[in-house]
Amino acid sequence: MDAADVRSTNLAVVLRCVREQAPCSRADVAAATGLNKTTVSSLVSELLKRRLLREVGTAGNRVGRPAVMLALDGASYAAIGVEVGADYLTAVAVDIAGRVVLSWRRALPGAASAPPRAVTAVAALTRRVVARAERDGRRVLGLAVALPGTLGAAAGAPARAWRDADFARDLAAALRIAGLHVEVGNDADFGVLAEYRFGAHAGTADLVYLTGGGDLAAGLVVDGALRPGGSGYSGEIAHLPVDPGGPPCRCGRRGCMEAVAGIGAVLRRAGADPHTPDAGGRPPIAEVEPLIDEITARARAGDAATLAALGAAGRDLGAGVAVLANVLDPRVVVLGGHYARFAPWLLPAATAELRHRAITAEHGGSRLAASTLGLDAPALGATARILDAVESGRLPGDPDGAAPARGGRSPLGLTGTAPAAARAAERAALPPSVTTATDGTRR
Ligand SMILES: [Zn+2]
Repeated sequence: MDAADVRSTNLAVVLRCVREQAPCSRADVAAATGLNKTTVSSLVSELLKRRLLREVGTAGNRVGRPAVMLALDGASYAAIGVEVGADYLTAVAVDIAGRVVLSWRRALPGAASAPPRAVTAVAALTRRVVARAERDGRRVLGLAVALPGTLGAAAGAPARAWRDADFARDLAAALRIAGLHVEVGNDADFGVLAEYRFGAHAGTADLVYLTGGGDLAAGLVVDGALRPGGSGYSGEIAHLPVDPGGPPCRCGRRGCMEAVAGIGAVLRRAGADPHTPDAGGRPPIAEVEPLIDEITARARAGDAATLAALGAAGRDLGAGVAVLANVLDPRVVVLGGHYARFAPWLLPAATAELRHRAITAEHGGSRLAASTLGLDAPALGATARILDAVESGRLPGDPDGAAPARGGRSPLGLTGTAPAAARAAERAALPPSVTTATDGTRR
């Protein structure tokens, strides 16, 4: 590691420390990181110049000179996350502190079945998000896109990794925004990254997220790191056998976890069968939300058949989760997407079944919880991916202190208004502008 690497690593350490402890002083940062005070002062000066940190007044009640407090600068940057859903696109932008500054959703029927069309639509939406961020005086840190398992489903599973590479490349080409970092991952992985950074169980080192959308998959964080698996297919739990005598599954077998406890199965069991399932037998999302409203209303009213159906689906969900719990021993398994709406009725039965089947139950075991992030979780997790990269040393901003332009079109990219030579040097040290999420690609 050369001196420049050491410095950018230390800048990232200070940035992460301030995120976790803000507001805090330079002395607090030195104490928390073990770096000496002179080094911290120099690192903080650079982060202030890059507009990543700001000073937020002084702490008054200390002995001696009042300490200047630091916080993340929420005004100068935005990270963009987009989710391609079965029939919608979601875009969110967050500031460097993770505060949501924009959240848009638009209907796009058939998006997930037609990758070229999804590329065009994501590019159009992204350009509008970038324009808005720039108008607000923000420089864009990067774009990550969450893709569902159903995207281009006809291509078949082994083609998914190639599909992600193609998607990232085609999207970058369609965007034509020089210097914009673009990456692609899957909705389950980004869902768990969202929970890990923004959720009610943020920072839980062993965490699982279950997608509760058109299909069922798990995103896994183990020992504080995303675990996409050797070829990117970890967490494919849809076809775990749960009830061998159960209903037929789209894979041709019977009683798979998705067939008994996926969102489509929960709706079906509660008597609200979507009218027009897609070729894979999954319900279109546009039809799902009114049905969820209907079922939750019935459950709240105490309808016995509805409560029995949700309890049975919850038990099957718990049986599937118990397999995950016995293999991975997560502290928390978060029910995401539409599952959260059914949580009051699914969770008791699922938790009882999990405790019955999990070998670790008497040692504390794994806890089931409902997501608090709503349907934006995969898009939020995509922004978490970009923020993680910044905190790992891919720092934006100009160390010489030029501010991002306000109120006009500022040059996009990681180095902005730096002199051309410095910009070229820095670009040479950066990862390629199009990556295919080598550690996040499953599909
Ligand atoms: Zn199956």
